[in-house]
Amino acid sequence: MANIILLGPPGAGKGTQAERLVSGRGMVQLSTGDMLREAKTSGTEMGRKVAEVMEKGGLVTDEIVIGLIEEKLEKGAPGGFIFDGFPRTLKQADALADLLAKRGLTLDAVIELVVDDKALVGRIVNRADEARASGQPVRKDDTPEVFAVRLQEYYKNTAPLIGYYWAKKSLVQIDGMAAMDQVAGAIAKVLDRA
Ligand code: AMP
Repeated sequence: MANIILLGPPGAGKGTQAERLVSGRGMVQLSTGDMLREAKTSGTEMGRKVAEVMEKGGLVTDEIVIGLIEEKLEKGAPGGFIFDGFPRTLKQADALADLLAKRGLTLDAVIELVVDDKALVGRIVNRADEARASGQPVRKDDTPEVFAVRLQEYYKNTAPLIGYYWAKKSLVQIDGMAAMDQVAGAIAKVLDRA
């Protein structure tokens, strides 16, 4: 059983890899992006505010996302948790450490998917095209314009977590540009030794 963070910019493949871990290892994926997209449809004032921020590519407040994660941690995960898209700020990282410690849980690895920025916008546009082709809902923030804002948010607020977790000796860097199966294999190796 291991609790891990998947870290990396939008389009790095965090969600894809998390899904594989859910089906392959019975882990529980906690994607704050998915939770917020759900909240958006709730019709509440909070949902409306969240939608506005997300559509522009900004970050939702720490309080909201920390609250969402706390709720899900209550349910437990015998196979371990995958934090996907959380934490995104140093404040969220500290909050996660507290939430885990309170429950006697450990953070076993922070896996950074290292990718080439130039390839990312192509992946995002692809994701939107694929969704469109298969009749799935297209994310409003999967446009080159909003993506540029999301990438800036990543470098400003989230990339500092790389140094933070490196100093804590939790960071493992994986080549996120490799084929999907290879990335999955590299993650499996980390989990098997965690
Ligand atoms: P994602 O699905 O992870 O790409 O997240 C989509 C959007 O949800 C982001 O661009 C943010 O607006 C918001 N979001 C998701 N996770 C967080 C988080 N941990 N902190 C702040 N905002 C978040």
